[in-house]
Amino acid sequence: MDNSSELNLKNPLIEAASRGPGQLPAYSRIAPDHVVPAVKWLVQQTEVRMAALVKNLEGTSNSLESKSWEAIMVPLEAVGATINSAWSPVTHLFGVFNSPELRKAYDEALPIMVDLDLRLGQNTAVYQGLKSWRGDAAAWSKLSKLQQRIIDKRLLAAEQSGVDLTGAARQRFNEVEKQLSQLATKFSNQLLDATKDYAMNLLNQSDVDGLPDHVLELAAHEYARRNKAADKDPSEANLKIDLKAGPWAITMDGPSFIPFMEFSKRPDLREKLYLASIKRASFGERDNTPLIHDLLRLRREKANLLGFKTFAALSLSSKMAASVSEVRELLEKILGAAQPAARRDLEEIKAFRAAHAGLDGKPMAELCHWDIAFWAERVKEARYQYSEEELRPYFPLERALDGLFSLVKKLFGVDVRPGDGEAHIWHADVRFFKIYDDVGKHIASFFLDPYSRPQNKKGGAWMAGCLDRWQSPTGLQIPVAHLVCNGTPPVGETPGLMTFDQVRTLFHEFGHGLHHMLSEVPHSEAAGINNVEWDAVELPSQFMENWLYHVPTLKGLARHYQSGAVLPEHYIEKIMASRTYRSGSMAIRQLQFALADLELHEEFDPAGNVSPFEVQNRHMARAGVMAPHPENKFLCSFSHIFAGGYSAGYYSYKWAEVLSADAFAAFEEAGLDNEASVAAVGQKFRKVILAQGGSRHPMELFIEFRGRKPEPQALLRHEGWL
Ligand SMILES: [Zn+2]
Repeated sequence: MDNSSELNLKNPLIEAASRGPGQLPAYSRIAPDHVVPAVKWLVQQTEVRMAALVKNLEGTSNSLESKSWEAIMVPLEAVGATINSAWSPVTHLFGVFNSPELRKAYDEALPIMVDLDLRLGQNTAVYQGLKSWRGDAAAWSKLSKLQQRIIDKRLLAAEQSGVDLTGAARQRFNEVEKQLSQLATKFSNQLLDATKDYAMNLLNQSDVDGLPDHVLELAAHEYARRNKAADKDPSEANLKIDLKAGPWAITMDGPSFIPFMEFSKRPDLREKLYLASIKRASFGERDNTPLIHDLLRLRREKANLLGFKTFAALSLSSKMAASVSEVRELLEKILGAAQPAARRDLEEIKAFRAAHAGLDGKPMAELCHWDIAFWAERVKEARYQYSEEELRPYFPLERALDGLFSLVKKLFGVDVRPGDGEAHIWHADVRFFKIYDDVGKHIASFFLDPYSRPQNKKGGAWMAGCLDRWQSPTGLQIPVAHLVCNGTPPVGETPGLMTFDQVRTLFHEFGHGLHHMLSEVPHSEAAGINNVEWDAVELPSQFMENWLYHVPTLKGLARHYQSGAVLPEHYIEKIMASRTYRSGSMAIRQLQFALADLELHEEFDPAGNVSPFEVQNRHMARAGVMAPHPENKFLCSFSHIFAGGYSAGYYSYKWAEVLSADAFAAFEEAGLDNEASVAAVGQKFRKVILAQGGSRHPMELFIEFRGRKPEPQALLRHEGWL
């Protein structure tokens, strides 16, 4: 297979896409050389099919028979499926099996795909066709509710990308969109550069007082890395790294910043690092302040062009939450319960500090922002003496999977069985599994890539669709998922042993996977997590995490990899107790950000005299338990809302937590240890929430499952605030 024309003939991406629905990607055969030819083929295929559809739409736009699902939506579904079939393996491999060759091919292919996607989304003929259908009561009434929702969502997405605007408004809209995207990129780059460039160099032993070895090691490497690049003398190129003797460099990256704030016994250095962090990207050449003003102004303008009063209204128009006031009401309720808990957290720290004065080399002066993490960690140590490391031998991957699969069997009545060897994989560690229903029918499959592989795999964890469920004209395509984790890999004879956090991540991603795989929706556009309002997407994933705090479930999956012994009782007690440690303090932080985000995109006048930082500080002061530091410029590093998808949407984290906690409470009410009741509620959860996915509004589904609207009570109880 070394001849490039042969490669084109035998391009596995094109092959799978042209064979029709249900084809698993031939991962072991896909090479970087296949990517660009496949993408070009896709563009050409799509253009031909869209031209035929548009011709059909324009030729018969007024006849009733032209407005049928078969005439319009089936061809669109087929176009989507073909694109997915050829392109999703590429994006997947980009994340889990990267190489310089693949990156090069991907860089060439990506703009072509972005452009194709844009043209499909903004296709005026399709938009007009769907709109006239929507307006034709007779034709519209022939559609199922699900089909109506799919079309409504398509229309909404097209409208929000400006398809309905004409003349000067359209031109201005496109200009605003372009500027918004440039500003967001600039915001993100400046933040990245400001973070990357900062280092606090530590040269003396006294500077690293209190830091554990793993922090020193990271810091010594960081110093060497930074100073090697600047060094021009080749004999000095390999700076000697001595974690005990230094020098060291501390940065604003989480793995460096957080442990320093938690362990350093030098309040003066913690203060220095804290101040650098709250002022990040807020001054000099990398000042994000003007970008914040521009972004807020242009977002308001964009919303106005689309007929919305504010950007928050535009953002919420495609979410589960109905209005800004509904979101605020919920956030305030949570705040009311979290704030007293956060005050107690603070009092606890103060009391502990008074009893252990001088531990951080500082007399009993005023407690400052940079003292909190340090003392919180000391309280935690005193209270729950165990390390994540001690738990790992109890969480070998195989055992955790067994526990997870038997839980899923108990809850939803489905069997998960290995199907290794039945699918092409991209790496020897990857597993393939198949899911069967209670009568033994194969209903879904998934790939699991469990271990970290820094040389070619992205960090983090995620679930992504490989194939969507789809009742195609030629047969049913069953859903297939990609589950990607970054657990600790096996070493020699020792199997992959996970931390408790890694087990939680596995459960979380598997929850997303169940949403994708237990779907019963026939139309791919609303199957699985497709079409689900994004403030509701985290419901099944966070729901699954709750089960790890159910003692019998935890005992069922935590056994020593050598002795087979169950996780000792004292560890279980500590895991249960530490779940709510400082939960009030962590919640108010998120609530402050969520409330500030809403106000900046709702009442705030981007052309007025009030500074966005005044809004930020007002929420920090009101929702917090300590006055914000006067120099706090947190907004300048708030990339979620200024360079990510969370603008007027940061509340989604808390919103989805309310949903998942309240859904879990339905199981608690039935009795977690009563197998028959759990199975009955599980079936209901499966049939209502998981099976219907994006086919109905999430509020409707939630009410059907729970018999009422979501209430925050269960979350408050799980957090330990009631
Ligand atoms: Zn998630």
